[in-house]
Amino acid sequence: LFRLLPFISQLNAARSQLANTSASVEIVNDFLRQDNKPFMATGSIVYRQLREGIHFDRISFGYSERGNLVLKDINLYLPRGTTLALVGGSGAGKSTLADLLPRFYDPKSGCIKLDGIDLRDFDIKSIRRSMGIVSQDTYLFNDTIRNNIAYARPDASEEEIISAAKRANAYEFIEKMPQGLNTQIGDRGVLLSGGQRQRLAIARALLQDPDILILDEATSALDTVSERLVQAAIDDLSRDRTTVVIAHRLSTVQNAHQIAVLDQGHVVETGTHEELLDKGGYYARLYSMQFAERPENVFSRNEEIRN
Ligand code: ADP
Ligand code: MG
Repeated sequence: LFRLLPFISQLNAARSQLANTSASVEIVNDFLRQDNKPFMATGSIVYRQLREGIHFDRISFGYSERGNLVLKDINLYLPRGTTLALVGGSGAGKSTLADLLPRFYDPKSGCIKLDGIDLRDFDIKSIRRSMGIVSQDTYLFNDTIRNNIAYARPDASEEEIISAAKRANAYEFIEKMPQGLNTQIGDRGVLLSGGQRQRLAIARALLQDPDILILDEATSALDTVSERLVQAAIDDLSRDRTTVVIAHRLSTVQNAHQIAVLDQGHVVETGTHEELLDKGGYYARLYSMQFAERPENVFSRNEEIRN
């Protein structure tokens, strides 16, 4: 729920009117939790836990009524506890597809089914509560590190917060900060590197312990140490969890149970890393060109080889 927030400027406007930081953060949180948008119909079934899997059942989607379709007849099945990696060039539709899961948008045709039940038949709050999202623009608040990690679980204990930070490989840098977990971040406090921001987002998701995880990996180049730490944290977070990952890292892609290659809104190939390499198609081409260039960040430059 932290990406694609059209409200950010409103939030900032709301916040700047308030002198007290912690009060304003609560207001921002309430705002973000208003997940029952009036135009988003909600069903009544309370979602608890995935038993079988997620079916993207012939999904088509476009952002405007008359505009082009951004997703075209997508058919994918993700069994519970497995990882689906979405790869493909910039603008292929990967983030859009991931955004349909928490119902930021609904498909124009087709539907997403959880254990055979249309996503729209579930209570939308229960759906969103059970999904964790770590994305390139995960929203961190101008607040303490502690409150940023505990965002989805304000009742979490000190031990739980520290344990999540450790598992996310974030505790080491947190400990070095002037006030540890109580350090203010953002433009009112210390500024964090891209890798540090990502590890905080991962710590937040670990603490939330969501049933379904959506990861939109950062494309921005991290230094090698950060890269390795982030990757290890991502592996921990997605292990045995039903995960949709928009993958830029070689190891994430290789370890995924299933890879779907998107091109201009179509799924053009699916399979495991080995299967797709054997096939010698689009994926194999992406792989060989990028691996030759930058082995540690193989899918980060796919824009350049689309044409
Ligand atoms: P990817 O994540 O694979 O780079 P996206 O899903 O972000 O691709 O984008 C797919 C297409 O949808 C692109 O043509 C993009 O310009 C368009 N698009 C993305 N977000 C929006 C939006 N909020 N409104 C209109 N068009 C959008
Ligand atoms: Mg994207």
